Amino acid sequence: MHNLMQDWPLLTSSIIDHAARYHPNRQVITRSVEGPIVESNYAQIRDKALRVAQGLHRLGLGRGDAVGVMAWNTGRHMEIWYGAPGAGAALHTLNPRLFADQLVYIINHAEDKALFIDLDLVPVIEAIADKLPLVRHYIVMTDAAHMPETSLDVLCYEEWVAGQDGDFSWVQVDERDACGICYTSGTTGNPKGVVYTHRSNVLHAMAEVQPDMLGLSSSERVMPVVPLFHANGWSIGYSAPLTGASMVMPGRDLTPAALFEMLELGVSLTAAVPTIWLLLLQYLEAEAKSLSTLKRVVIGGSSCPRAVIETFQQKYGVQVLHAWGMTEMSPLGTVCSFKPEVLEMDTDARVDVQETTGHPPFSVDLKITDDEGAELPWDGQAQGKLWARGPAVVGRYLKADELATVDGWFDTGDVATIDPNGYMAITDRSKDVIKSGGEWISSIELENAAIAHPDVSEAAAVGVPHPKWDERPVLIIVRKAGCDPSAQSILDLVAKGFAKWQVPDDVIFMDEIPHTATGKISKLQLRQVLKDQGYQLPG
Ligand code: ADP
Repeated sequence: MHNLMQDWPLLTSSIIDHAARYHPNRQVITRSVEGPIVESNYAQIRDKALRVAQGLHRLGLGRGDAVGVMAWNTGRHMEIWYGAPGAGAALHTLNPRLFADQLVYIINHAEDKALFIDLDLVPVIEAIADKLPLVRHYIVMTDAAHMPETSLDVLCYEEWVAGQDGDFSWVQVDERDACGICYTSGTTGNPKGVVYTHRSNVLHAMAEVQPDMLGLSSSERVMPVVPLFHANGWSIGYSAPLTGASMVMPGRDLTPAALFEMLELGVSLTAAVPTIWLLLLQYLEAEAKSLSTLKRVVIGGSSCPRAVIETFQQKYGVQVLHAWGMTEMSPLGTVCSFKPEVLEMDTDARVDVQETTGHPPFSVDLKITDDEGAELPWDGQAQGKLWARGPAVVGRYLKADELATVDGWFDTGDVATIDPNGYMAITDRSKDVIKSGGEWISSIELENAAIAHPDVSEAAAVGVPHPKWDERPVLIIVRKAGCDPSAQSILDLVAKGFAKWQVPDDVIFMDEIPHTATGKISKLQLRQVLKDQGYQLPG
């Protein structure tokens, strides 16, 4: 009595088939790169995706090939999102903010044979094209009227798609074949390629839509502000059509005013990193505006400051879903939704819980260990290495000889606590932990405390070498425009929530803090800046 159910492969083409068949009229509204706001729907997206697949097939591309895309979040990007894997190829999403040599490295390492490029990003590729010997086709994602002058030999996306008759079926691949490729940012060494399979993407999307996770349905309208090229686009390109949720795509203009305009197109759920929301909240405050349809906001990628959670919830009636994930996990690890015990709490205690990153869906399993690998208790206190396993967690990086796991578990590089109710809190990245006198000080907690100061715009805590204590924490602060907070006022605020020995030894004001290509504070560069400046601890 073995294997008596149908063997229905888990392919991402089934997701867009489902959306087009059962939710054909659900809209995908885009601020186009050309300018105007344009509309499509799942039936049209599928139709064009099929033509993309046919076009790639006619170019001789398919199973075993990689195809790159460098584009903002738009309906067209969604057509390629399904079209390239529908041709049997793996879609490699490219972050235009990477340094040129990183782009060259990842395009060549993934062996991209064709590149889809947004209109405004053509110069980025032009500048490196002579270093891309494997790329045979460049396709500019616009219509004939908007084709740019370029030294590249290019195809015009809309003409190319219109030239296909659509009489084509998705290439039937194995569910374990590559579907997408996304490189980690590679703050140390070369970037590493994570290869999502069709199966991992489908299972991951089914996990992500669950009520305790993003809770998507056909009544929702979702705006992914997080780019499709950042950590598998947080999988929203799959999970929205899987449930028939309609989409709003913000295009390339991510300024608060532009995002506000798009949010007001009926968006009920949106997702991005904390900095985007800090700026939006400042804009709403300055313009005395409110959010008329937004109900929930997913915030992850780095730790979400308490003030952001409180302002969204208490001032605008928008529930914050604090989430943790990583490129290697497709990316969802945990979401901080309310279990019954948390719902019963008073507001303040509930926000305390929301400062944690929550609990995982079925299909993600977590553990924390000490340096020797022994599991640590889930008491909300013990902090240790965070490990993850599941069907959408990396097993091996692209072209790597070694597995990315130890005994089936992937070392996330994060340090965390887990409480008895299964809520996990990230305290640090292993490489950013501040070690003072044999104890660990959480840089994330220090930063969150400092950012609560009304005159502070950005805060970073790093460890500086110390002869007696090994390391001591210092805070690097970017002031809010027009504000001049004193170092002491920031330290006084931090001192309220920390033991004396954990309070930073110094506050350094900077006009700017270095960021990574995904918009996170680059501690690596920051430590280098301090070193280059010959920074000395006071006293
Ligand atoms: P990058 O290295 O480009 O930032 P990822 O997006 O994969 O690539 O980053 C994943 C890392 O981001 C996690 O390992 C964790 O350190 C951090 N992170 C993600 N979400 C959170 C969060 N909610 N709180 C704290 N850290 C987070």
